[in-house]
Amino acid sequence: MQLNRILLLVALLTYTLCMAQSSEELSRKTVFIIIDGISSDQLKKADTPNLDRISKKGGYTDAYVGGGKDSYSETPTISAVGYNSLLTGTWANKHNVWGNEIKAPNYNYPTIFKLYKDQYPKGTTAVYSSWLDNRTKLVGEGLPETGNYKIDYTFDGLEYDTINYPHDPYRNFMKLIDYSVADHAAESIRKNGPDLSWVYLEFSDDMGHGFGDSERFSAAIHFEDQLIGKIYNAILEREQSLNEEWLLIITTDHGRSSNNGKHHGGQSERERSTWIITNIKNTNEYFSTSVPGIVDILPTMTDFMHINVPQHIRREMDGISLIHPADMMNLSAEKKGKNLIITWDKLQNGQAKLYASGTNEFNTGGKDTYEQLKTLDLSKEETSIPLRKLPKGYTKLVLESENTTLNTWIPVE
Ligand SMILES: [Zn+2]
Repeated sequence: MQLNRILLLVALLTYTLCMAQSSEELSRKTVFIIIDGISSDQLKKADTPNLDRISKKGGYTDAYVGGGKDSYSETPTISAVGYNSLLTGTWANKHNVWGNEIKAPNYNYPTIFKLYKDQYPKGTTAVYSSWLDNRTKLVGEGLPETGNYKIDYTFDGLEYDTINYPHDPYRNFMKLIDYSVADHAAESIRKNGPDLSWVYLEFSDDMGHGFGDSERFSAAIHFEDQLIGKIYNAILEREQSLNEEWLLIITTDHGRSSNNGKHHGGQSERERSTWIITNIKNTNEYFSTSVPGIVDILPTMTDFMHINVPQHIRREMDGISLIHPADMMNLSAEKKGKNLIITWDKLQNGQAKLYASGTNEFNTGGKDTYEQLKTLDLSKEETSIPLRKLPKGYTKLVLESENTTLNTWIPVE
């Protein structure tokens, strides 16, 4: 009897050790997918069996784009603007992409690809996209400003191939392009397993512009869902046969106009309303109880991929991780008389330090000096600082705790 017990214990111990070892050896890989222009109400109406099975395994949340409405970070609900908020984890007042022309992106706010390559130069990256500018302009592949790095696997630019994809007024060519892009992405992921991949699909937005809230639009969402199913199956196959753990995040770049769904760009509730779906189970309380922003996807990916974001960059990022513990959210500051009233919402008890900088050198590639103003008890959710104690000029406030860094800007006269 005793011998049996000992044998059982030994077996259990061996099993536990093996499990611990194998989970340590899992290599982590990420795919993020943007499906263009699907408001959260339209997503819920459409038939999306694949997004449903991914949400069921991981999670779904309503989300938003557009920055702080009526504030310094208000951001147009326009495609490239939204993609760049995902890529950099910042709103347009920082990344400086205000329209689809992508006139002057501020590469001082690094994309997820740059953050990843800076830490893991040998890691592999991929962009599979129905729009070439995503790689050449937003990611800025090969540009000196972004460090000249290359994307290892690319499949894009089909919109310029008018022989194989002849343009037609109903934009069927874009449906074919999305099909080719997703097909190639699934194959490449299955075969090469890049560490960090971006898949971008456009057809849904084209149907929104052309037909508004309609059966055609719902059918386009269903079509994109089938393409995502192929990519998800490739990930599942790799997870089952290799020592890999994959983070899949799927989102959209903006909602649609409230009257007929044909437009976007403004700040209406429906244009701002998006969603985030992930295959990951261990999302945090912030994911499950609030409405995250598109800027929260970058810190989620850096946490999952174990990318150490340098403090001066973290202090500029406008998002919060959706998988690691988050201590507080919604930092904001308002002048009242001779004081600055600073508020936040507590997610966990603890302390945080409040810092201010009177400069914005980061914006032009420099570094800012922060002075510490206070140590705060997070449960208070409010504090007051006399304006005369703040650095003169354009003040950036940072609230830093063990797990979370928040920032807000406040002009001081
Ligand atoms: Zn769009």
